Amino acid sequence: MRVMLVDDSSTMRRIEKTQIAAMGISEIIEAENGEEALSMLQDNMPIDVIFLDWNMPVMNGITFLRKMRENPKYASVKVIMCTSESEKSRVVEALQAGAHNFIVKPFTPEVLRERLEKVGK
Ligand SMILES: [Mg+2]
Repeated sequence: MRVMLVDDSSTMRRIEKTQIAAMGISEIIEAENGEEALSMLQDNMPIDVIFLDWNMPVMNGITFLRKMRENPKYASVKVIMCTSESEKSRVVEALQAGAHNFIVKPFTPEVLRERLEKVGK
């Protein structure tokens, strides 16, 4: 499974990376905003699951998600939206835009594993 972490916080990416690597997944790539993530996808980087932060400079998570879903080429890419507690009410918006699931920060390794296993099936 190839996982992409899209978050402007390097600390957050490090936490996610550590937890995902502990699950035995070694193919983990990182992007610091939606624009960078989009260009990585456009470079034909094969990705199965994206952990997507909501608030990021340059291009935020929801804009990235909508742009990505415009292209049928990326239809099989699963997206897990990472939200803060205050953004929880906007989850429906993300699901309608094509996210498969969401995770509320901060999360435990167990919750992350559960989400990843759910979309990975
Ligand atoms: Mg952020």
